[in-house]
Amino acid sequence: MEDCLFCKIIKGEIPSKKAYEDEYVYAFWDIAPTAPVHILVIPKRHIATLNEVTGENSDVIAKIYEAIPKIAQENGISEDGYRVVSNCNQAAGQTVFHIHFHLLGGRELTWPAG
Ligand code: AMP
Ligand code: ZN
Repeated sequence: MEDCLFCKIIKGEIPSKKAYEDEYVYAFWDIAPTAPVHILVIPKRHIATLNEVTGENSDVIAKIYEAIPKIAQENGISEDGYRVVSNCNQAAGQTVFHIHFHLLGGRELTWPAG
């Protein structure tokens, strides 16, 4: 996607602080962190929102969930615990329309979410 911020980050056209990368997945530190560990985990393939996940592209979502425990382990939050959040569309506060999974940890996380 030409005008997608996260596609540009994957291509290296916009800088990011990489946390993890494999054939399907890219992860980088959030520019405005809300926790000591706040990493965005995204598929290299452009998918706009969770609403666009289907049987045809859900393999990359599985790859994301394989990567997350590795990233959590590398950043020391596996044992204490962490949260994974994906905001879908306006009511949930999605601002970047390339599906992403916030990996949050390093502090006590309250529940229910706001
Ligand atoms: P959401 O509101 O769920 O769509 O999350 C988008 C996230 O992207 C926010 O937490 C932003 O802080 C983050 N973000 C926006 N631009 C950048 C960027 N250039 N590098 C890293 N994170 C970004
Ligand atoms: Zn994109």
